[in-house]
Amino acid sequence: MADAQRATEEWGPDQRAGRGPSPARPRREAPSFRAPTDENAAGRESSAREPGPHSSVALQGLGVSAGSTAGPALRMGRAPQLPASRVVLDPEAERAAAREALRLVAEELAQRAERAADPAARAILEAQSLMAGDPMLTESCDELIAGGLDAAHAVHAAFTEQAEGLRAAGGYLGERAADLEDLRDRAVARLLGEPMPGIPDPGHPFVLVADDLAPADTAALDPARVLALVTARGGPTSHTAILARALGLPAVVACPGSASIEDGILIHVDGAAGTVQLHVTAEHVAEVRERAAADAAQAARGEEGARGPGQTADGHRVPLMLNIGSADDLPADAAENAEGVGLLRTELLFLGRHDAPGLEEQREAYARVFAALPGRRVVLRTLDAGADKPLPFLSLAEEPNPALGIRGLRTARARPEVLETQLAAVALAAADTAAEVWVMAPMVSTAGEAAEFAARVRAHGLAKVGAMVEVPAAALRAGQVLEHVDFLSIGTNDLGQYTMATDRQCGELADLLDPWQPALLDLIAACAAAGRAAGKPVGVCGEAASDPLLACVLVGLGISSLSMSQGAVGRVNAQLRRRTRDECARLAEAVLAAPDAAAARAAAESAG
Ligand code: PEP
Ligand code: MG
Repeated sequence: MADAQRATEEWGPDQRAGRGPSPARPRREAPSFRAPTDENAAGRESSAREPGPHSSVALQGLGVSAGSTAGPALRMGRAPQLPASRVVLDPEAERAAAREALRLVAEELAQRAERAADPAARAILEAQSLMAGDPMLTESCDELIAGGLDAAHAVHAAFTEQAEGLRAAGGYLGERAADLEDLRDRAVARLLGEPMPGIPDPGHPFVLVADDLAPADTAALDPARVLALVTARGGPTSHTAILARALGLPAVVACPGSASIEDGILIHVDGAAGTVQLHVTAEHVAEVRERAAADAAQAARGEEGARGPGQTADGHRVPLMLNIGSADDLPADAAENAEGVGLLRTELLFLGRHDAPGLEEQREAYARVFAALPGRRVVLRTLDAGADKPLPFLSLAEEPNPALGIRGLRTARARPEVLETQLAAVALAAADTAAEVWVMAPMVSTAGEAAEFAARVRAHGLAKVGAMVEVPAAALRAGQVLEHVDFLSIGTNDLGQYTMATDRQCGELADLLDPWQPALLDLIAACAAAGRAAGKPVGVCGEAASDPLLACVLVGLGISSLSMSQGAVGRVNAQLRRRTRDECARLAEAVLAAPDAAAARAAAESAG
């Protein structure tokens, strides 16, 4: 049986991630598969031959809407192919045809806007409908027809030129290029009498895969049918991202490898990690969807004990903070219910840009986050880019081992002014807010680097400065690093990668990247001990913090705060509140004595 068909028959149309009824089968534990977790590196891929969650191909994109789901992939309907151009005998008729096609496209979009239930979708469709009637575009079509082009070629050329101009401008404007290309394809399809490009309707739930999504497509999405979105292009503020978040659909954008996804294969999309696992098994799809449905049901119930501040059963406070990429990732009730942000991944503002965002643009973006969290702590991480998360304006040379090269704080050696501008923007935004702003650097390796970074940050009048521990050297020398900074935040995704000498994109070696690896936990314990000795906080902001049982172990090791995606907070809190601090310490002791990751997890499970 074809994967897609089997998937449909087994789960039926209502069981999309986070929606639909809870499955009748008992809840299983999370699948042991651990997706690669680099949210920001676009377009890298690791491959293996056998299907299955541990060994299938993993694509890496940019996770812009959290959630995990799986199902058959289906590609968007293709744009019409232009035939060879015709000799134009009656330019007036061509002009009239082009105008009529654009009028009909505008009308169709306006009608869709009226029907759209979601206000964000409605606004986008209305704007696109207006764009179709833009006199400047109509005039350039007229001129091209006067120059000898037929209506279809004229519309195609006029809209393509305009879209390319927007794309070259980059940033927000660049992300509007897809809107124009969508208008172009719709108008050309009308002129050629071809089917409208757009979302397929196979009659069963599927993961929509596209080059990029235009507003008319995303606004027409039926969330009962579309499980998740994967696009080759796009960015954190593209329509795909905005609407995916509005609809609660997991989404991965800027995933160039997705062009190779064939219709009907089973894939697993993790919108938090930004990963797309290809050729997963039907069993894996079942596990992922069961887990998602159970999580949704749990969230809907607001599981007993999961709400309120993070703390152990005996009242030891462990702030449970959020990992976000921008203010858009904050829950609507953040001001009342979030304990703060433990990791603001600022590189999302920089990705896909040809020029660095300026001081004012950055100030505004940071101020939006701070304004949403008055009186709360926001830990902002300075730009974490490099050869593995390429940013054209950094002009870094290609490296044979990007993960071991100029990335994270190291980019400031080559381009100190980029860090300076960012710190200036943070300082301006911080001066204007009631949030408590902490700043930290990614990929700190030595105490000297920590000292230099701290001096730069303090020179901007920012009081709280920290270092991320992602490199084993920094963990081994945590005490000396802490002589220069006010706090540490452990990035277990990278610390695991560098401790185990295992590329975090490598699905085949997922067992080595398991955050329960005792060697990784040893390094975390060393950081916590250094923090205790210095009287300074040491948090964890890598994926390890979102595993509820492991979170208890981390607290037992002496970690003072945990940061994770919003979806994990309730579960982690529920587990923490079940154990006293001493019980967490006993879990930690049992785990550190284990010889490997599986034994460590088993030791924690049996220690309660
Ligand atoms: C980490 O490495 O654990 C981390 C939080 O940083 P990122 O995943 O963004 O590299
Ligand atoms: Mg990292």
